[in-house]
Amino acid sequence: MNVILFGPPGAGKGTQAKILEQKYGLKQLSTGDMLRAEMAAATPLGLKVKGIVDSGSLVPDDIMIAIIAERISQPDCKSGFILDGFPRTEAQAQELDVMLTQKGKKLDAVILLEVDEKILLDRIHARIAQSGDAKRGDDDEEVLKTRLEAFRKQTAPIFPFYERKGQLEKVNGMDSVEAVSAEIDNILSAKKAA
Ligand code: AMP
Repeated sequence: MNVILFGPPGAGKGTQAKILEQKYGLKQLSTGDMLRAEMAAATPLGLKVKGIVDSGSLVPDDIMIAIIAERISQPDCKSGFILDGFPRTEAQAQELDVMLTQKGKKLDAVILLEVDEKILLDRIHARIAQSGDAKRGDDDEEVLKTRLEAFRKQTAPIFPFYERKGQLEKVNGMDSVEAVSAEIDNILSAKKAA
């Protein structure tokens, strides 16, 4: 099963993706985690994207598309994957469609975690308080605002693309982790049974 998890930064995509990894044996593909690993290892790619990621803007599409194309071809994605943080632009969504078709794969579910912006800011503040010195470079209020704007302007316009295909499922991301997870379970069970 191949799933996309959409949601603004702080909506809990990573948490839900990890739960799905455990429950369904799917591979979580978090493009944010991949970029942070490149940055931490100071690879040429990491050095190239660091300024962009730290500012809260989006990394160019060609870089992200190449990363995902390579990643979904790996053996650990054979029984399915959860895209967490990709696609984030219309160009990425279109390219994803092309690459899935080429690989004889398809999307089984596209799930959007809907969250109130005020609650997101509270969650990010809690994350900053918890992580202390080890805080992520992009966990800061100004940067969060840029990230939310990127979500609104560049990612949200993709939703009609999946809505038209009848694939977009909306979940209330403000519920508890358990309730959101149960809701996602229902969606995936229905897809499996279909
Ligand atoms: P995330 O952890 O998914 O919120 O991603 C952290 C940051 O990595 C984002 O704010 C972007 O700068 C960058 N990033 C992650 N995924 C993508 C993507 N699909 N397209 C462009 N930039 C991305």
